[in-house]
Amino acid sequence: MDQPRSEISQLGEFGLIDRISKNFTLTNSTSVKGIGDDAAVIDLGDTYLLVSTDMLVEGIHFDLSYSPMQHVGYKAVAVNVSDIAAMNGKAEQITVSLAVSSRFSVEAVDALYQGIQSACASYGVDLVGGDTTSSTSGLVISITAVGRVAKDRIVYRGGAKPNDILCATGDLGAAFLGLQVLEREKQVFLEDPNMQPDLEKYEYLVGRLLKPEARTDIVSELADAGVIPTSMIDLSDGLASDVFHLSRASGVGFRLYDDKIPIDTAAYETAIEFKLDPLTCALNGGEDYELMFTISQSDQDKIKNHPDIHFIGYAHERKDENVLVTKQGNIVPLKAQGWDHFR
Ligand code: ADP
Ligand code: MG
Repeated sequence: MDQPRSEISQLGEFGLIDRISKNFTLTNSTSVKGIGDDAAVIDLGDTYLLVSTDMLVEGIHFDLSYSPMQHVGYKAVAVNVSDIAAMNGKAEQITVSLAVSSRFSVEAVDALYQGIQSACASYGVDLVGGDTTSSTSGLVISITAVGRVAKDRIVYRGGAKPNDILCATGDLGAAFLGLQVLEREKQVFLEDPNMQPDLEKYEYLVGRLLKPEARTDIVSELADAGVIPTSMIDLSDGLASDVFHLSRASGVGFRLYDDKIPIDTAAYETAIEFKLDPLTCALNGGEDYELMFTISQSDQDKIKNHPDIHFIGYAHERKDENVLVTKQGNIVPLKAQGWDHFR
């Protein structure tokens, strides 16, 4: 008899992870948090060890026709450091695993590692190992970051309480618009290789996509201000999708105000140029690598003058009610249309 066959696309990335995780339980007392947060948490006695892995695949996460190898290396480190930051921790070491086809030269691998080295220097992390293999096609880079956080300072996705204030750092949607710009220029170039793209106007957007930074600065500034968020996640999938992650883990719902969502001017203007809604780009774009977190109302004054922290909404008891409140006072259900690579 034929074995049943289900398509991965029917489950999606998160459905697939749920399916994997339900067959595993944690058996060691040192395994504090397994699947389901930005990093795994391991009890070292006096502190918590944080471990996070992210893989970047050519053709899925990056396109080498417009991503320089140095930037791919830098980004692969930054996105892992970002996951450690999302636990309120500090990354200290990385391992780098590489699958590389004969299409790539030694110099290309050198360039990739220049980017990795530069990110290691920016974030103060050490490269301590990895693995190297050939691949039949393309480049795959998988990085594992290891970090630490004091036990009384750890922040999970699941700690938000009703009435907590929802905060987002930086600005959102820019990386997605950078991608639109690069994809358009690529098409133009393919049709006429003599056309040289003029990307100056879009420099910020393209930079946000190709060379994102982990917000380790925010982690230290929150500590300096005496604030420990009640929950936190890094914004990799898109604001809306990541709101659902906090909501599900914390058992609360969120109300967001559309006029509080931070959008950079260049992102706003480029969205209009592409006939896209700037707010939709900010809600569903993804790859911003900003931090989103909740704080108790009593902590709001401590960070209210921070130029890069925006109060975008609040948590409430109804966990199934994640909504956007418009300036006109309309309430629109949030839709998670973030990045799912299996769709
Ligand atoms: P992030 O976007 O923060 O990197 P992911 O959405 O990739 O997080 O992963 C969510 C959770 O699922 C994490 O705890 C991650 O370690 C876990 N996870 C993802 N893929 C797998 C897998 N193939 N096997 C086991 N755990 C996984
Ligand atoms: Mg994350």
